[in-house]
Amino acid sequence: MAGHGSTRTQVAIIGAGPAGLTLGHLLHRHGIDSVIIERRDRAYVERRLRAGVLEQGTVDLFRAIGVGDRMDREGLVHHGIHLQFEGERHRIPLTELSGGRAITVYGQHEVVKDLIAARLATGREICFEAEDVSLHALDSDRPRVRFRSGGVAREIDCDLVAGCDGSHGIARSAIPGDAYRVFERTYPFAWLGILAAVPPSLDELIYACHDRGFALHSMRTPAITRLYVQCAPNDPLDDWPDERVWAELRARLETTDGWSLEAGPVLEKGITTMRSSVMEPMQWGRLFLAGDAAHVVPPTGAKGMNLAIADARVLGDAVAEWYRTGDRALLDGYSRTCLRRVWRAEHFSWWMTSMLHRVPDGDAFHHKLQLAQLRYIVGSRAAATSLAENYVGYDHA
Ligand SMILES: Cc1cc2nc3c(=O)[nH]c(=O)nc-3n(C[C@H](O)[C@H](O)[C@H](O)COP(=O)(O)OP(=O)(O)OC[C@H]3O[C@@H](n4cnc5c(N)ncnc54)[C@H](O)[C@@H]3O)c2cc1C
Repeated sequence: MAGHGSTRTQVAIIGAGPAGLTLGHLLHRHGIDSVIIERRDRAYVERRLRAGVLEQGTVDLFRAIGVGDRMDREGLVHHGIHLQFEGERHRIPLTELSGGRAITVYGQHEVVKDLIAARLATGREICFEAEDVSLHALDSDRPRVRFRSGGVAREIDCDLVAGCDGSHGIARSAIPGDAYRVFERTYPFAWLGILAAVPPSLDELIYACHDRGFALHSMRTPAITRLYVQCAPNDPLDDWPDERVWAELRARLETTDGWSLEAGPVLEKGITTMRSSVMEPMQWGRLFLAGDAAHVVPPTGAKGMNLAIADARVLGDAVAEWYRTGDRALLDGYSRTCLRRVWRAEHFSWWMTSMLHRVPDGDAFHHKLQLAQLRYIVGSRAAATSLAENYVGYDHA
């Protein structure tokens, strides 16, 4: 191959999202070398707006590995969320119900920026704008990754490959079809999300179940509000001019006690479809999948980014143990360990989604069940505690 360059590393990491970057940093702290190979350019991944809620365990991990300084300065620590239905708002005191744990509102793109800065400071390689990434010899003890970078063909020779390339990546397709199973569910609705240059109208998140559909009031900073309304998955964005978005948000979020939603200039607008998906197992030969590459949740439970980071932590520990002792037990058990947390989060995300969204065919029985469940949560400390401990992050022994 003309211009062929071959590099040797210990772990090749495909994808510079939360999973890949966290894994790279954890490995570095164990003295393990890696190369991170990312399809997009740095500015693109640092601007990509996605999740924004960090569980307590994610916050604790970032502090412990030295990437939490800006998060601690700029992140917004929340001790509660609100559930709203039948025009009334009810606060769930997360911290009180979960033994002192909290959530931190801090955008995924900020997490990515902090992790890229930490990566660059280590001097270890991160290759942006990699094209035609392909995986080879994953069932041997010398896997290889090939790609093109700046017009030059490169090959990485490594011990292990971490597929952290998200739900549209290539890593999972390197696993033979008869070696895995996918469990999936799609939902008949989507989220239209806006980012608005206006301070949040309340200092905590509001999850609203309304006859017109679900709505969520969230925020990114004290000056920027993030809002979502349930829409149809095939709605064209043009059907949602700003005035219609604000009108729906007002109708779904306003309460009978006179609270009102502040509007402001819309900075971004997009539609996110919703699905649940889990691939089992999350490993094959020397390939280990982490994050959205292996599983997807609907965003209602705010679990996607947290799960990706939790996978990276389990994988980082397993890889370190293998290099340190030669014992493969943690690596062999990687998928099994992760899937316990993944399925808990899948259930919670499906449950929150089912409880809060309006089913398009207007199933009245289903709506009555939703209201009964919501009333139970706000009326019973046991039910509210279950929601709280899942929302802040349920730690599996
Ligand atoms: C539009 C959108 C909105 C979301 N909103 C929320 C939310 O509000 N709350 C929530 O909890 N979760 C949300 N999520 C989910 C959450 O963002 C993901 O769970 C999280 O990004 C997973 O991290 P990851 O590192 O596994 O994957 P990703 O963040 O997807 O990172 C994968 C990386 O791999 C790169 N890549 C892809 N293919 C290749 C390739 N062939 N070669 C090299 N690199 C490649 C990608 O460019 C990307 O940088 C949202 C997701 C989307 C798409």
